[in-house]
Amino acid sequence: MLSEDGVVKPRMLINGELVGASDQKTFPVYNPATREVSALVPEASADDTNAAVAAAKAAFPSWSALDPTARGACMKKLAALIRQNIPELARLEAISMGIPVSKFHYGHTCAFQFDHFAEAWPHIQGQSSVNTPGHVTMTLRQPYGVVALIIPWNAPVHFFGSKAAPALITGNTVVVKSSEKAPLAVARIAELIIEAGFPQGVFNILSGHGVPSGQILSRHMDVRALSFTGSSRTGKLIQEEAARTNLKKVILELGGKSPAIVFDDANLAKAVEQTQGSVQSNSGQVCMANTRIYVQKGVAKKFVDAFTKRFAAVRDGDPLKKETNHGPQADEVQYRNVLRYIEEGKGSGKLAVGGGGKLESKNGFFIEPTVFLDTPETAKIMKEEVFGPVVNINTFETEEEVIAKANDTEFGLYAAVYTRNINRAMRVAKALESGYVGINCTSPLTGRDLPFGGWKGSGQGREGVLYSMSNFLETKSVIIQLDDE
Ligand code: NAD
Repeated sequence: MLSEDGVVKPRMLINGELVGASDQKTFPVYNPATREVSALVPEASADDTNAAVAAAKAAFPSWSALDPTARGACMKKLAALIRQNIPELARLEAISMGIPVSKFHYGHTCAFQFDHFAEAWPHIQGQSSVNTPGHVTMTLRQPYGVVALIIPWNAPVHFFGSKAAPALITGNTVVVKSSEKAPLAVARIAELIIEAGFPQGVFNILSGHGVPSGQILSRHMDVRALSFTGSSRTGKLIQEEAARTNLKKVILELGGKSPAIVFDDANLAKAVEQTQGSVQSNSGQVCMANTRIYVQKGVAKKFVDAFTKRFAAVRDGDPLKKETNHGPQADEVQYRNVLRYIEEGKGSGKLAVGGGGKLESKNGFFIEPTVFLDTPETAKIMKEEVFGPVVNINTFETEEEVIAKANDTEFGLYAAVYTRNINRAMRVAKALESGYVGINCTSPLTGRDLPFGGWKGSGQGREGVLYSMSNFLETKSVIIQLDDE
């Protein structure tokens, strides 16, 4: 990737060529740990976005007609190239959104998706039956055509792989729009896509803000399906645009306000370690982080003492250094947002640890791990996604009470319950309004072959190695009448 004076100059991938914006417009990305300019990134214009969709549309007939093993061969090559470039991808993410290189495992998860789906094509199957007398019926599963993939900044390389790989193997052509906060690693992968030998126009990558490029993709008449991971606010806007234009299929993976419930018979040391890890992971910038923890009264003091001690001991610092396990927030906007929530939290709950930013002392967008106790359930900080290293710990007495509190949210992405009582564990798991439930474990842990997705305002649709291909396949019913000879 071009780099001058340490400033990275990435390009977009449109119709098989690495290009800048057609109007030459760029935007800066700052290293959130130092506030220095890391990169000058092309801002995809309306023309660029339309050109990427047109290229994908032109490439669709031959890509979808290709032997799926040939599609898979490009994907396997890309997986290998991604693996070879993991240290560079880690560095590019660190200098754009601040994830410590020691915590960057997304190169592997991304490569895994391309490898897995490269060989998953035999599962693209319809059904057949003779249940209609005098007829044979069947269903065909076929690609949509041009698919748009809009990804967030908190784990861009991971979402890039988990969306693009199933879309491509099923015969769709794609236009990916990376996040304006973290476009660098994805731009590096754009270069690897050329090396991997994808035919021209099959795989296009745009960089830029939600408006114009994301919005244009959402309302584009030639985009037939759109998979989005990001905030609930943007998800709703995309859904509106899709409804207003061509009713493209929309898959939404949105935000969360995940509860973790700790009963007094739980393995407390494990509950502390895992719930703290959940909210610290990626500096709290994880959709499924357990940001509301409910602890049964009898063990609350012990839990809070151990949790706050552990949480306050994170090693923040330069994300490029191996010893750092806690990076800054992704940018100034995120930093200021989190600080606003912390100030609001101070007015509604009891501050137990942290409670501030470290801009003066560290010169980057670092936030102190922050714990609030006894916050009213109706407080803003209990209802909205903070997306920072901030957690609310409240107490409860009964199972009924805690289920009601845990479910009193518009989100429903992940919930956790810690107890040694299997009956209680299963009762609570069943009662929780959530797309995922961890029993004696919590996020970001997920089962390798389980579906992932939200209930309620956390999204619609499911992703996963057994589920994502379906998101990119239309179903056609065919009925054949048999003549009597
Ligand atoms: P965001 O919604 O601000 O941005 C996500 C993407 O949408 C970016 O590429 C952005 O440029 C684009 N975008 C913005 N406005 C748009 C518009 N009007 N039309 C089309 N595209 C537009 O989200 P973010 O801040 O990047 O990511 C954080 C959010 O993502 C959090 O809410 C988090 O919970 C959620 N998230 C969800 C999951 C999940 O799997 N459910 C995973 C990770 C993150």
